[in-house]
Amino acid sequence: MSGRAERLASRQRNPKWQVPPLRIDMSICINCDACLRACPPQFGAIFNHGVDVVIIPQLCSGCDKCLPACPVDCIVPDPEWTAAPGAWWALAGGPEDPYV
Ligand code: SF4
Ligand code: SF4
Repeated sequence: MSGRAERLASRQRNPKWQVPPLRIDMSICINCDACLRACPPQFGAIFNHGVDVVIIPQLCSGCDKCLPACPVDCIVPDPEWTAAPGAWWALAGGPEDPYV
């Protein structure tokens, strides 16, 4: 089982990741999906959720690859992150998962 598959199963963030995950400031995001395409598949943390674009913090390594992709600089560190809602996990690992 790969690292991402393990995270999908356990819904746990890799404890070895030293930097916090990122989150998207939805009040600024223009839903362009550029960050989603920039997130490496081995992390695969960014999803379309209805009209929002969201980062599942347990899947986000904090690698910062998405940052230069964002045209409005609305992706920010989230040291106070909390577990993603269950509905967000339904987007990952299923037939609609853009990283599989
Ligand atoms: S920091 Fe890296 S893992 Fe996290 S959402 Fe951005 S590209 Fe994906
Ligand atoms: S790249 Fe920035 S503006 Fe575009 S969807 Fe991602 S967070 Fe939103």
